[in-house]
Amino acid sequence: MPDIAFLNGRFLPWGEATVSIEDRGFQFGDGVYEVIRTYHGRPFELEAHLNRLDRSANELSLPRPYSRAQWREWIQRGIEEAGFPEAKVYIQITRGAAPRDHAFPVDVSPTVVMTIRELPPFPAQTRATGVTAKTCDDLRWARCDIKSLNLLANVLAREEAKRAGVFEAILVKDGLVTEGAVSNVMAVQAGTVVTAPEGPRILSGVTRTVVLELARKEGLTLREQFMSLESLYAADEVFLTGTTVEVLGVIRVDGRTIGAGSPGPVTRALAARMTALAG
Ligand code: PLP
Repeated sequence: MPDIAFLNGRFLPWGEATVSIEDRGFQFGDGVYEVIRTYHGRPFELEAHLNRLDRSANELSLPRPYSRAQWREWIQRGIEEAGFPEAKVYIQITRGAAPRDHAFPVDVSPTVVMTIRELPPFPAQTRATGVTAKTCDDLRWARCDIKSLNLLANVLAREEAKRAGVFEAILVKDGLVTEGAVSNVMAVQAGTVVTAPEGPRILSGVTRTVVLELARKEGLTLREQFMSLESLYAADEVFLTGTTVEVLGVIRVDGRTIGAGSPGPVTRALAARMTALAG
């Protein structure tokens, strides 16, 4: 089964899908992206992802060259041609290629890329035992709500986590936990699920929204409020949410054991609910 590449309205062999060295995504990170996963060949929360893509593009005054219906059709076609039951659909829109100048170029067409690759299921054993994390300074800009290509601070944090031998970097700004480098962070404190509020300091995860709704259905109390690092360490449970990690328990942060040192009952219940949704 092939990995699939798409560029500016055409499906192409992988090696032929190339863009200009003057593309503003390459030179300035001037663009936005989305990552959508499939379960059993069906895209998960497609409309929510396309809504966020529209919103991100809008916030950066990026043109949106294709209609929603056109996107749905191409994504479906790409998924079918790739044939992977579990796949990762990556979409990227940049402002296009133009001689290098910071201000927006005139008369330029956006560059639209989509790739579809296999996404192996997250290892069940790792999900059962939970993962570790370390905190990192949140060095990102003031519009983290936009899913922009500018991921340098996330890249550096992820590398710091990798070098420390932990799974995720939990970002901390002014003493408050914002989110993970590639995920949202939630904690359970005395039966209440706490997570950072939507706004410019976090990317509002599609999975975050789904999981908060599942938690509500479980009868749990929710609090969308920033947590101090101390309260994260003291939480009964900590877990990550995201398209690739789904619901993933964190058992140690900065070497400190969270709760009982294994994914707690709320994490496990929400992870099971997610699995059921995906089924
Ligand atoms: N926060 C950041 C910084 C991310 O990069 C991601 C996912 O890539 C998320 C949160 C989770 O978002 P979603 O659930 O939409 O995948």
